[in-house]
Amino acid sequence: MLIPKLDPSRRDREYKQRNFEEISQIVHTWLFANDVTHREMDRDILGLDPLSSKGWQSMGVLHYLGLKKEFKGIFHNAELHQSIDQLRSDEQDFSFIIELLENSVSDSSERLIKSLYEVGKFRDKDFEEHFKLRLSEIENTDGRRNQSQSRKEQGILRGILFKGVQEAKCAICHRTLPIDLMVAAHIKPRSKCSTSERKNPNVVMPVCKVGCDDFYEKGYILIDQSGVIQINEEMYYSDELETVLSELTGKRCTHFSQETEDFFSYKRNSLKQD
Ligand SMILES: [Zn+2]
Repeated sequence: MLIPKLDPSRRDREYKQRNFEEISQIVHTWLFANDVTHREMDRDILGLDPLSSKGWQSMGVLHYLGLKKEFKGIFHNAELHQSIDQLRSDEQDFSFIIELLENSVSDSSERLIKSLYEVGKFRDKDFEEHFKLRLSEIENTDGRRNQSQSRKEQGILRGILFKGVQEAKCAICHRTLPIDLMVAAHIKPRSKCSTSERKNPNVVMPVCKVGCDDFYEKGYILIDQSGVIQINEEMYYSDELETVLSELTGKRCTHFSQETEDFFSYKRNSLKQD
């Protein structure tokens, strides 16, 4: 079977609004289902009213990736692994599409955990012990048990970042705090990360729960292109909050580097748009 030519459009508006899981489901459905429409995907995958969305949301995602109507149902009746092999051997670059399809394999989250764990072991000979320590902290501090996979993922990332130390320095405020007041925070929101980004331990940074984690995640502060902390002017601040944030402004984010700058820029750009 001949693979059609990718024909990506430049408009990324719909694509940017969607998280990795949604994009993965849309792409999988488009390539593997025979008779599904954009409107049905808007309804069934995105939970939108197809009468008002008109299918434009999933269509926008697919067009951005270059998967126009020629791709509809090309793998209908085919097996996932064979289809992936076929894309891999095509002369066009399907690596990101393959990543999206692999995400729909049932053991994809176990594979992610395994791969991150390997990274941890590669970097630290006592990783197993450090992972157990950091995992037990999450159980203690949350008070309740999270879903086991995401708890493991956070435990591994904490193990990689904090190893066996008792205190660490927050990448944003530079205060040294006990590890149970610290988190391994995603620089680029986890839901927007592809599988390979989730497997990359550089996607997280050590930040404190005593302010910085929320200030960054909720977009009150941003890290500029030189790695310096700035107030996000588009947010509303009380006078008191402004006083707190002004102490951070101008500091360097200690986790800003060549390996992390793309993740920071994703976050920065996502704050500008809304
Ligand atoms: Zn902090």
